[in-house]
Amino acid sequence: MALRLYNTLSSQIEEFHPLRDNEVRMYACGPTVYDYGHVGNFRTFIAVDLLTRFLRQSGYKVHDVMNITDVDDRIIRNAARDGVEVRQYTAKYEKVFLEDSAMIGIKPPTLVRATDHITQMAEFVAKLVEKGIAYRADDGSYYFRIAKFPEYGKLSKKDFSGMLDGARVDVDEYEKDSARDFALWKAPKPGEASWDTVIGPGRPGWHLECSVMSMQELGESFDLHAGGEDLIFPHHENEIAQSESLSGKPFAHFWFHARFLLVEGEKMSKSLGNFFTLRDLVLKGHKPSSIRYLLTSVPYRNQLNFTFDGLKQAAVSVERLRNFKLRLSSGNFPAGANPEMQTLAEETVSRMRAALDDDLNTAQAQAAVFEMVRRVNAAFDTGEIRKEDVARLLAVLDKFDEIFAVLNDDDVPKMKQVLDWAVAEGREKDISNELRDAVQSSELSDADIEKKIAQMKAARDARDFKASDALRAELASAGIIIEQTKDGVRWRRK
Ligand code: AMP
Ligand code: ZN
Repeated sequence: MALRLYNTLSSQIEEFHPLRDNEVRMYACGPTVYDYGHVGNFRTFIAVDLLTRFLRQSGYKVHDVMNITDVDDRIIRNAARDGVEVRQYTAKYEKVFLEDSAMIGIKPPTLVRATDHITQMAEFVAKLVEKGIAYRADDGSYYFRIAKFPEYGKLSKKDFSGMLDGARVDVDEYEKDSARDFALWKAPKPGEASWDTVIGPGRPGWHLECSVMSMQELGESFDLHAGGEDLIFPHHENEIAQSESLSGKPFAHFWFHARFLLVEGEKMSKSLGNFFTLRDLVLKGHKPSSIRYLLTSVPYRNQLNFTFDGLKQAAVSVERLRNFKLRLSSGNFPAGANPEMQTLAEETVSRMRAALDDDLNTAQAQAAVFEMVRRVNAAFDTGEIRKEDVARLLAVLDKFDEIFAVLNDDDVPKMKQVLDWAVAEGREKDISNELRDAVQSSELSDADIEKKIAQMKAARDARDFKASDALRAELASAGIIIEQTKDGVRWRRK
């Protein structure tokens, strides 16, 4: 069965097939690197990460590009305010973005930066001018004449036919009812960064940046373009107008938009001040894996309200999965296979696949794996698991984790990095006791470890699986790997 995805352009769920054979070319709008990203931004980035992971798991070769917006109104303003070069200003936030993405398990896409493509952007404007689609204003800025693109509004489904020809807007973000000819290129203002180019000095508008970089990396027509739902208008509408009026070809085939993360019913955003960065949450003692799991637990087009209860619930789910995996991999089972378990493994893989094929229904995919956990746990307790079942069941978990990426327990080293960062930034007062405890508990001595392993064995002998699982989880999160050998339990540090 093919992947069925919602396409904002057609407002329908469609079967996804790449334009070229087996190769998927996709572009996602990345972060504007003027500050720390918040969890809302990462809902969108994780939705894109999940999509690329699933496409790869489905056998496609994926060329996934993401841009770093390092030229925009806020960056230019802040760099001028601080009296530094644009790249100097953005370097810190670009690094933060890369670190945060790694912390939350995002596989790095091919990254492109606006500041590396200024020449091509100016050339793109020159070509639009040649075609009579763009024009130069008296101050040296260039605008896109939307009257020249009759399909303007086809993505956001707005009718702009009655609009005043020639009225202009020069900020990057604006409301639908103030749509006008938009700035492709902005003339320099005193004290602000600008570049000398074939069309004169200035800097690109945000919309132009993504058109130029996506087409350069992926060609005039490519498979999929992604971003948060707020980008539908004007950003993506303008990208379509610029790109299609230059190439005369359809730009992106599929438009993929993640729904906003909410906090108490309102969108999480910088301007409303109701946001948490990833580091804010880790400072409070939450694990990166809990954040990732929470953000994947609701399908990308459904409403997700951020709450601390939800985050705790996500931590419990991850813990259950990790315990289950440990129990499977460190248990001693009799030889043979239980056909029921073999069927269960097969069915779970099909259910996960069917769920993700259904417009990335992550909640259903997770439900399928938890159903397996529940049934296998019951079989554990009645001694119905055989050696050959273990490999099959572990393979199901591996498939699950190729997409969800929460089973590898590397939370503590990541949390330690945030703790060290907070100290370096002089933010000790923001470090919670929970974070300190989590990091310290990873520093177990050899004697502590031996003691806990002995307690674990005693609990298991007494069939107190809850206690033995808790000990095993504690050791695992401290980076201790336990192996069951014929000579008994052996352990080593990760
Ligand atoms: P920015 O760094 O502001 O350019 O945003 C980066 C990405 O995050 C864009 O795709 C936005 O649409 C997305 N985004 C911003 N706020 C949220 C939110 N509350 N929930 C989901 N995505 C968001
Ligand atoms: Zn963009």
